Amino acid sequence: MPKEGFKSITVSETVYKRFNEAYANSKDTLAVRGIRSLSGYISYMLEERMQENEAMAVHAPRMKKISVDDDRVVLLDSKVNRIAEVAVQNGVMFCQLCEENNCLHVGFAYALPEVYTALSKQGVKEPA
Ligand SMILES: [Zn+2]
Repeated sequence: MPKEGFKSITVSETVYKRFNEAYANSKDTLAVRGIRSLSGYISYMLEERMQENEAMAVHAPRMKKISVDDDRVVLLDSKVNRIAEVAVQNGVMFCQLCEENNCLHVGFAYALPEVYTALSKQGVKEPA
């Protein structure tokens, strides 16, 4: 029986092994983010995926992620059929296509979990 406030789920041995190995391989990095158990790691991965899905659902199919670097996100905006490059400038995300820091592209870039995680570590603020 799981402890109070928790529910258990069953996964295949293959899935379990895969996550267990990935967790073991990055235990140190994960501990920095406050993840200290295999179930914490799986919860984190599921939550991250859910956020990405939600971000995609809001803007899809308009926006497509092309690439993500440390401080630069390249998106394809299919509505205007243009590439939007969003990069960190003076501590805020700035869209080079719109030349502003509060457009759809910045919002979409910021909602990507890998961007959000990297930027919040650098202290970059979410667009208001
Ligand atoms: Zn833009």
